[in-house]
Amino acid sequence: MTNKNFKLMFFTYFVIFGILVAFFGSFVGYNMNLIDIKKNIDKASQEVGLIKKFDYLKPDIEKFDEIVKALSTNTSLEEYITSPDKQKRNNLTNVFYAISMSNNFIMQARFISAEGKEIVRVDRKNKYDKPFIVEESNLQDKSQRDYFQIVSHMKEAKIWHSRIDLNIENGKIEVPYKPTFRVAQPIIKDNKFVGMVIVNLLASEMISGLKKSTSFDHFIIDKDGYFITHPNDEYSWSRYTNSSIRLYDEFPLEAEKILAGENKGETFYSFQLNDILDNEDKAILILKLKVAYQSTLFSSNIKTSILIILLSILVSIPLAFFASIAPSRLQKSLFLANHELRRFADIIDKYVITATTKTNSIITSVSTAFAKRSGYSKEELIGQKMNIIRHPDTSNELYSELWETIEAGKNWQGELKNLNKDEDIYYLEQNILPIKDGNNRIVSYMAIGNDITAKKEVERLSEIDKLTGIYNRRKLDEYMESEFNRAKRYRQPLSFMILDIDHFKNINDTYGHPTGDSTLQTLAKILTDNLRKSDIVGRYGGEEFLIICPETDKNKTALLAEKLRACVENTLFNDINNMTISIGVAEFEGENTVKELLSRADRALYQAKHNGRNCVVIG
Ligand code: GH3
Ligand code: MG
Ligand code: MG
Repeated sequence: MTNKNFKLMFFTYFVIFGILVAFFGSFVGYNMNLIDIKKNIDKASQEVGLIKKFDYLKPDIEKFDEIVKALSTNTSLEEYITSPDKQKRNNLTNVFYAISMSNNFIMQARFISAEGKEIVRVDRKNKYDKPFIVEESNLQDKSQRDYFQIVSHMKEAKIWHSRIDLNIENGKIEVPYKPTFRVAQPIIKDNKFVGMVIVNLLASEMISGLKKSTSFDHFIIDKDGYFITHPNDEYSWSRYTNSSIRLYDEFPLEAEKILAGENKGETFYSFQLNDILDNEDKAILILKLKVAYQSTLFSSNIKTSILIILLSILVSIPLAFFASIAPSRLQKSLFLANHELRRFADIIDKYVITATTKTNSIITSVSTAFAKRSGYSKEELIGQKMNIIRHPDTSNELYSELWETIEAGKNWQGELKNLNKDEDIYYLEQNILPIKDGNNRIVSYMAIGNDITAKKEVERLSEIDKLTGIYNRRKLDEYMESEFNRAKRYRQPLSFMILDIDHFKNINDTYGHPTGDSTLQTLAKILTDNLRKSDIVGRYGGEEFLIICPETDKNKTALLAEKLRACVENTLFNDINNMTISIGVAEFEGENTVKELLSRADRALYQAKHNGRNCVVIG
C-alpha cells in the first residue's frame, strides 16, 4: 500500500468512525440530558408540594374572615350600638379581649364608630405577649385613614381585606418589619353605617413557609411589580423601603409576561394569589429556577459535549489507524467498532423509548425502555398495532394529523397520552420518523419518545381542586375566558350556572367539618355524573360550584340545572340525609367581560336564595 493510499484510507476511516461515534455519543448525551431533565421535573414536582401550601393559606384567610364576622355579629356589639353606655362598652371590650387572647396572630382588634373614633381597641406588642386593652384616653380618631374611608362605604356583610403591608407606628415603618394584613367589616343598622370592626393580623407566618427551596427562588409581587417578598430580604417590601426595586429589575425579560398573567416561562412558574387574598395587592407568586441550579444543568451539558468529542477522537484515531494498516487487521478493528456500537446500542435500548412499525402500524421492534414503560413484554408488543398503548381519550383528529404528516414523509412531533398494561396513564413526547428505501418509498416508521408523565402531573395538579378532584377556580377562570371569547367570536350561545348549597353552614355546625367536606365530594360527583362531556364543572369557592355550558342557551341550561337540583334533593347523603342547592343561570348577551356575565349569574343565585332556596333562577 502506498503512503498516499494509506493516508487517504486513514483519513476516510477516521471521518467515518468519527461520524459514527459522534452520532452514538450524541445519543448517549441526549440520554444523559433526559436524566437531567427528569431530575429537574422531579424537583419541580416537589415544588408543587410547596405551591399546595397555598391551600393552607385559604383556610387561614377564611379563619380571619370568620373572626371578624364573629366580632361583628356578637350581641354585645348589637347592645352597645342600640344604646351605648359605659357598662356595655366594657362588655364589648371583654369580647374583643377574649378573642384576641385566644388567637395569638391578632395584633390589634378594634371597633370604630361611625364618626371614625376608636371605641374599643385591644393591642398586642408581640406574637408571644398577651394582648392588652388600650385605655380610653389613648383612643384615636381614624376617620381620615384609608381603611375607614373604604369600609364606611361598603355594603352590609361584605368583608374587606387590606394589602399585605408593613405596620406603621407614628408615621414610621416599625422595625423589625411587621407584615400586617387587615380584615374589616362594616356594621350596618337600618341601612345606616354605624361603625366597623377591624382586625390587624400578623402576616409573616402566612408567607414565611415559602422561602425554603433548593431549586427555586420565591418572589411575591404586588400588582405594580413591587416585591412583597424577595429571596434577598433587603429587597422585600420594596414599595415601602428605599430600595424600591421592582419586577423589571429582577426579571427584565419576563416581567411583562408575568404581569400579563402568563404562568409559565423557561425558568419560572407564576401563580395568582388574588383568589385567596382577595385584596388590592393582586399578588403573584413567582418560582424561578435558581441560577446555581441552572448552571449545574449547563455545566453538565458542557461536560457531556467534551466527553463526546474526546470519545470520538479517542475511538476514531486507533480504529482508523488499525483499519488502514492492513486488511487483516481491518476485521479486528471492525470487530472492535462493532463491539463499541453494540455497547452504545445497548445503552440506547435501555434508556430510550423507541419502536419501529410497518407502514400499517404493526410493531416490528421495541426497545427495552419502551417495553418497560408500557408494562408489556417485547413478545406481547411485537405483531400488535401501535394503538395497543393508545389512551381512549386521545382524539381521532390528533391521530389523523399524525398519519397525514408521516404518510407525507415528514417527521411528526407531539405529545401522546398512553395507557400501560396496568391501565395507568403515561405521557410521551413522541418523534415519529418515516424510514424510506432507495426509491424514496416509506417502508417503516420509527418512534422515539421522551417520558413527560411527571411534567404532565405537575401541570395537572395546578388546575385541580384538592378536596373534590374537579377543576379549581384558577382553571375555571381560564375556561370562562376562553369560552367567552369563543362565544363572542363565533356568535354562539354560552351559559354559566352557579350553584350554592343551601344552609351549608348548618351542616358544618351540626355534623362537623369533615362531614361537610365529604358532602362537597359527593356533590362534585353528582355534578360530574350528570353533565355532558362538553360542560365544564369546577369548584368556584367554599361550597359554590360553577358549570360552563358552551353552545347552550339559558333555557336548555335551566333544564339541566333543574335536573341537577332535583337529583340533589332526592339523593341520600351519608350522615346528613338530605340537602338542597340553589342555582343561578345566565346566558351570554353581548357582555364585554366575563365578570359582567358571571355577576348576572351570581345575582340570579342571590334571587334563588331570596325566593326560598332549592330552586333555579334565570338571570
Ligand atoms: P345559604 O343557603 O345562604 O347559602 O347558606 P349557607 O349556610 O350555605 O351560607 P354561606 O354560603 O355563607 O356559607 C358557606 C359556608 O360553607 C361557610 C363555610 O364554613 C363553609 N365552607 C366553605 N368551604 C368549606 C369546605 O371546604 N369544607 C366545609 N366543610 N365547609 C366549607
Ligand atoms: Mg356560599
Ligand atoms: Mg350556601
